[in-house]
Amino acid sequence: MADKFSTSQKQDFTINLSEVIPYTIEFSKDAKEIVLTKGVITGEISLDSIALELAQRFDIAYEEIFFTKNDNNDFLINLVSENFIDTSVAESIILEMIANELPYSLKSADTHKVFTYITENLFGIPLIGSMYFGVIDRGTNLLQIRSLTGCPLNCPFCSVDEGPATKTKHRDFIVDSDYLVDTYNHVVKEKELKKAEAHLDGQAEPMAYSYLVDLVQGLANNPNTAIISAQTNGWYLTEKLIDELADAGLSRINLSINSMELSNAKRLSGRGDYPLQKILTMAEYIANSKISLLLAPLWIPGINDSAIEEIVKFSKKINNEEKRFPTLGIQNYLIHHQGRNMKGVKSKTFKTFNEQLREFERKYDVSNLVLKQSMFESYKTKMLPNPLKVGEIISSRVILHGRLNDEIFTVAKNRIIHVTGAEGISIGTKFKARIIRNRHNIFFAKKV
Ligand code: SF4
Repeated sequence: MADKFSTSQKQDFTINLSEVIPYTIEFSKDAKEIVLTKGVITGEISLDSIALELAQRFDIAYEEIFFTKNDNNDFLINLVSENFIDTSVAESIILEMIANELPYSLKSADTHKVFTYITENLFGIPLIGSMYFGVIDRGTNLLQIRSLTGCPLNCPFCSVDEGPATKTKHRDFIVDSDYLVDTYNHVVKEKELKKAEAHLDGQAEPMAYSYLVDLVQGLANNPNTAIISAQTNGWYLTEKLIDELADAGLSRINLSINSMELSNAKRLSGRGDYPLQKILTMAEYIANSKISLLLAPLWIPGINDSAIEEIVKFSKKINNEEKRFPTLGIQNYLIHHQGRNMKGVKSKTFKTFNEQLREFERKYDVSNLVLKQSMFESYKTKMLPNPLKVGEIISSRVILHGRLNDEIFTVAKNRIIHVTGAEGISIGTKFKARIIRNRHNIFFAKKV
């Protein structure tokens, strides 16, 4: 730089972009874009478009704009000019470009699929009505909070066919955390809940959410929140994240571990790099933190029978004090027609399953393996009003493409609705559809 611009009039103005935006910034492989990453969100911006915009706004030559990285791995933009350049103005210009362009290139780092970022301003999409994202009320004090879709694992029994190997899901969604908290607050108020549980789950790995700590903090700020719990497969857990979540107000983590033996654990996660030892270490770290730990293995007959007993013993070892919630939530394997199933595996009846859990209670001197809603401080409440009847015809426009090939989203009566049978319809197109399902304020319609 110094050699090239040695005339006395020219000065070097530097913007440290890494200090301005809360993303990791790298060059793309061909060095034509910058790649911005925050958690599982990743997107690209063309370096040419940034250079052209700055060249035009500051009346400098395109060739006098340089993109480099320093020894701290910070991303720098150097502008060489005879005129004074206010770098704070240049920063604002770049931020505006990123805000405008990034949403169009977002991808999930887990699934490599298009990520649509849902904010309150995006077509006014309500966060009630979808099974993929938003808030779900099933008539209790527990509200399901779904901040994103997508998962890094490829479990061969996944009931919702998630993960990079999914054959049915073609897009992912991520929701703005303030908008999600506002919707949660609205539902808590509408249901007049005094002891709400915000439960972070989804057709996803909830801990992959890039704004997880902010979300937990936002949910905790509601004075009527009594419990905040989250499901996880453990992939993203770190001691730092667990500490931050504990400080933000997370009450319980439901951690799924399906085997204590590495090769079976890899097989059951669908990932050859599944970090079993790290996840067991994190389980122990949670058990010693302010957050309650519930281990939630799926019992797959003939596949992990001995692992279930090992997990009962492990749980007893690490959760050795009196706890607010049960510490084991063994799940019964069920066949899911729209998910992935393990070849040749049959599910047990709940009667047999519960008898076997009682047997374990006696054998290992543990309690609460057969779970009841009341053990989790859960109780029935009134439901949110359901504004759409089955059979009702809605006349609307395509708002977003859905996750399935023939699925789109539309909005009616302040609810988001999944519409199937709508392959190839463009956004904005008018159409009619019949509501075919409205249970728990989750709406499905078929195009007519
Ligand atoms: S962790 Fe859960 S969501 Fe992810 S693939 Fe496994 S079962 Fe599916």
